This record gives sequence, structure tokens and C-alpha cells, in this order.
Amino acid sequence: MIKKYLLPSAIIVVLVLVIFSCTSEKLNLESALESITAEDLSKDVAILSSDESEGRAPASKGEEKTIAFLKQEFEKVGLKPGNGESYFQEVPMVVITADPQAKLEIKGKGKVAQFAYGNEFMATTLRVVEKSSLDNSEMVFVGYGIIAPEYNWNDYEGIDVHGKTVVILVNDPGFATKDPELFNGRAMTYYGRWTYKFEEAARQGAEGALIIHETEPAAYPWAVVKNSWSGPQFNLTSEDDNLSRCAVEGWITLETASWLFEIAGLNYDELKLSAAKPGFKGIPMGLKSSLTLNNTIKRTESRNVVALLPGSERADEYIIYMAHWDHFGIDPTLEGDQIFNGALDNATGTAALIELAEAFIKLESPPSRSIVFLAVTGEEQGLLGSGYYAAHPIYPPAKTAAAINMDALNIYGKMKDITVIGYGNSEMDEYVEEAAAEQGRRVRPDPTPERGSFYRSDHFPFAKQGIPALYTSFGIDHVEHGEKWTQAKLEEYLANHYHKPSDEYDPNWDLSGAIEDLRLLFKIGYRLSTESTFPNWKEGTEFKAKRDADMKAVKEKPENHTP
Ligand SMILES: [Zn+2]
Repeated sequence: MIKKYLLPSAIIVVLVLVIFSCTSEKLNLESALESITAEDLSKDVAILSSDESEGRAPASKGEEKTIAFLKQEFEKVGLKPGNGESYFQEVPMVVITADPQAKLEIKGKGKVAQFAYGNEFMATTLRVVEKSSLDNSEMVFVGYGIIAPEYNWNDYEGIDVHGKTVVILVNDPGFATKDPELFNGRAMTYYGRWTYKFEEAARQGAEGALIIHETEPAAYPWAVVKNSWSGPQFNLTSEDDNLSRCAVEGWITLETASWLFEIAGLNYDELKLSAAKPGFKGIPMGLKSSLTLNNTIKRTESRNVVALLPGSERADEYIIYMAHWDHFGIDPTLEGDQIFNGALDNATGTAALIELAEAFIKLESPPSRSIVFLAVTGEEQGLLGSGYYAAHPIYPPAKTAAAINMDALNIYGKMKDITVIGYGNSEMDEYVEEAAAEQGRRVRPDPTPERGSFYRSDHFPFAKQGIPALYTSFGIDHVEHGEKWTQAKLEEYLANHYHKPSDEYDPNWDLSGAIEDLRLLFKIGYRLSTESTFPNWKEGTEFKAKRDADMKAVKEKPENHTP
């Protein structure tokens, strides 16, 4: 008799426990989600983008105010210092200003020509030296300048470029041909980014690297190259003062390139076509380049802000939320408003870190894995703070489940969709799909993947380290106004406020869509924190090999990877 009644009561106990734990899990999440509010978010955005923050330039008074505020808020919320005893990670930087009087001289085939800095070429060096030059350096056309084993592609094969100057096409063969079978078709791969081309040229021992500018494959006109490459250039330093980089890295205009190919007796258009086909071989141009850059060098320092919520069960595994706190500071040469407040870009993302931290603290039971909140510096100068963190990780990359980047939140109201920049790259896509479906929204791939947006914000240095990195952006299908309305708003912002002093906080912003996005990103981080598996890159992406190698190393020697 007793036995007969034991079974059902045991089932009831189990059922009650299951129901109880489900509801408590739900309640646990709900109070955390509800703590993410537009009111809190806008308060912090207003502070971060106020004139008192002076445009948040790295290594300025604005930096001191900004990082002190972030430390104070992270502390107040209840996070621990994220770098040992400190909330800061020091990021050594160097500011190099090249003398704009520099001339590029090309000699060969009985001709000599000089090109002017600014309108005909732009050049800089990452080497921390007062003088950096090319001296009659032989020029070699290396096509797209790509070595990509996964695409079975090597533009440097059988050609020695040591001490030489390589001339390189921008973007990649997939974009050039629009052939979906080549690279990633129309979507830019990292091999198409100019940053990659300079890195590869240096690895090959080239002394100089010049990229030929063309507006369509570069995704911006020459004016953008000219403006962003002139004046003081912030860079990271390294132990060798970047001496392993090329002596000269630069761009030439299409007009300059046309002249070069013409006197070299080469047909530029034909070579461009053959460079986009497998089996292309580099071509010595029979020309020599000379150029001297006289640099003014200033060493300085900025800081990433990093805070930690330790996990309850697997504290040595991490999920990183990040956003860049920096912007362009003050330009005293401007008439009228001189402060680049950077309210949307990226006071919104930075304030979101505080909101998400607060939400995770609100959870009744803390997440199993640790959550890291990382506000990085120097994004606007070339992903410097995130690049520094990726090269000097505080938490082992192989123990970092994923990184989630926020750069400019939605200020236009609720959307029926959410954009994943770099959709198709990693298993993070599925996390977004699930969280978006719970909100009745759908996922939209980046509508302009040829612009290479995936390579242009702070998640990218993490991707290069193999860490699955998620970067979402505004959806465009507005709940009330539809797609055209949102696109017009975005275009208006890009034309009038993007990277301008008028990117200011407006109390009339509709942050309801941003709040939905933050709740979605919270859910993704929460799900990652409860899992024991690690997401990965998808087959065929340029980041998978690094991740696989890291995961294999951890399996073989786990003790090496515990902090
Ligand atoms: Zn930004």
C-alpha cells in the first residue's frame, strides 16, 4: 500500500519543483528586464554627451571626466573592478603627425614624376620614428594583396617583396566580380579591408604599401581618405615601436595609379580583371618610389574601463559586453559649436553598459558565467582600445564565450526587425533569432555588406582573436512608419550629424526601440551565461581557425587557461 502511494506523490513533488523553478526563473528574468528603462538610459546619455564631457577625446580632460563617471556608476551598481584591483586598463598610445610637405617621387622607364601629399597620395607610418622613408624602392603590383588559405588564394606566391613597395587594389575579388563563389561575393571580407592589406604587406617584408583608391570598392570618396589620414594620428604602440610595420603605408588616387601603370607600360583595367581571377601572379612594375615622412611624435596614454560581475558557477568563463566611450573631443578651429558631443555615437552604447550591468545585478541568482562590462577608448581613431584589449586580454579568449558590441543605439522608436552586421558569420545569429522571435521581431542581415561595417567597430578585434562577436544595429522596419521613413531618418543623420558637433542628446528621442534591443541583448548574454557550451564561427569564415585552435589548446592543457 505504502509503495503504491509513494510513486504519485514523488511525481507531484517533482512537478511542483519544476513549475516552481520555471516561474522563479521567469520572475528572476522579468525584474531584471524591467530594470532596463528609457528614463535611466537617457539620464546617462545626457551626462556622457554634455558639454562638460568635452567630446570625450582620448587622453584629454574629457577622458578623465568620462572614465571617472563610468567607474562611479559601475561601482554604484555593484560591479567589481575588472582588471585586478582596478577598473581601468591602461592603453599606451602614440600620436604621430606627418609633415604635409612630403612628396612621393616615382622614377622609371626614363620618366620621373612627383605627387603631392593630400590631393594625389596620402601616407603615414605606424613606426614610432621621426623619419620614415622609401628610397628608390622597387614597385610591385600584387593585385588584391591577399593571402587567404581558406579561399586557396595567394597574391604573394613566388614573389619576393622584401624592401619593395607593393601596389594594391582595394576590397576583394568577390566584390570585384560579384561572383558569389569567390570569397564572400559582394559582401566584403576582412581581406578587402585596407587594414588587412597593410598588415599582410608588413608580414611579407615590404618596405612600402600603397593602396589604389577607387570610390565604389572603398565605400567612400577620396575626401574621406584625405581627411581621416591628415593631422595627428593616434595609434597603439608595441614593444618594437611598430618597427615590424612597413616604413610607409598609404593610398594613391586612381589618377596617380593610372599614370603609374601607363608609364610602366601596363594596362590597369586588364590587370584588375586578372587580379580577380585565381592564379594571379604579382608583377614587377619597373618603377622605383621615394618618399620621406618627417614625423612629430607624442607618447600618451588612455584607458579602457572594465568591470566584472563574477559568475556563480563557472566564474572563469566570460561574456563581454562592450561599447566605445570615446569620441572626437573639441576642435578649436571650428566656428560656433566646437564640441563633438557624440551623443548617439556612442554615449548611447556606453550608457547601455550601465543599464545592462544593473539588470544583471537585479537577477535574484547571479548568472553562472561571469559578465564583463568593457568601455573601450580610441574607437574613432581606429579601434585602438578594443585592439589593445584583444592583444592584451584580461580574460583568456578561449574562456570568453562571446563578445557583444554596442555602437549607436536606436533613437527612432520600435522596429519590427533587428539588423545583424556580419549575419552568417557565427552561431550568435541563432541567439539573436531566438531572442528576436520572443519579441515578435525578425532578424535582418546587414543591407550593405559591401561597406565592410563588420570590420569597422570594436567587436572586430575580438573576432580576429577568434572570440565570437555580435554586433547588431537598428532594424529599419519601423512599427508605425515602415522602412522608407527609417531610411530617410538614417540618411538625415549620416548627412547632418554623423561625426559632427551636432550629434547631441535630444530629450525628444524615442528610446523605446533601444530598450527592446537592450532587453534582447540582455537575454542573449543571460542565455550564454547559463550554457556550458561555447558558440563558434561558421564554417568558411576567416575567424574559425583561430577559435578552433584556442578551444583545442584548452582541451589539451586546461590549466594554462585558468586566470
Ligand atoms: Zn561609434
